[in-house]
Amino acid sequence: MRRLFLKLFGISILGLLVAPYKFLYSQTKKIINQNLTNEQKNILFNEGTEMPFTSSLLHEKREGFYHCANCGNKLFSSVTKFDSGTGWPSFSEALPGAFNTKIDYAFGMKRIEYHCAKCGAHHGHVFDDGPSETGKRFCNNGICLIFIPSD
Ligand SMILES: [Zn+2]
Repeated sequence: MRRLFLKLFGISILGLLVAPYKFLYSQTKKIINQNLTNEQKNILFNEGTEMPFTSSLLHEKREGFYHCANCGNKLFSSVTKFDSGTGWPSFSEALPGAFNTKIDYAFGMKRIEYHCAKCGAHHGHVFDDGPSETGKRFCNNGICLIFIPSD
């Protein structure tokens, strides 16, 4: 009985935490791709993070473009992709107008979160420690991307 109570209590607390999010983003975030997996939805719409070193795109080196898994918006060129060693696909630059950003204070850190300018879906965080001229490191969840090779 006590266990059940705790379980229900836990669920309601989670609901309270998630509710304002849902309210805030219901206008801007929209599921367009109806074939998204639950894991993709959790990252794209609840700002989750995939486990590092799990993305099949980590070692993708072909020429082409990376698109939003939800709406298909073109986000990155393969030319800007580099191996950051972090375990997430990393890029030195996004295509112009691909993303909007906001400051994220989750986990007691101040980070710049970025999301698809077209559908509002979360993709990752951008840091100022990139190795190239731009100085930027876009740390993107691989599961949020669809790679389309050029040839
Ligand atoms: Zn999108």
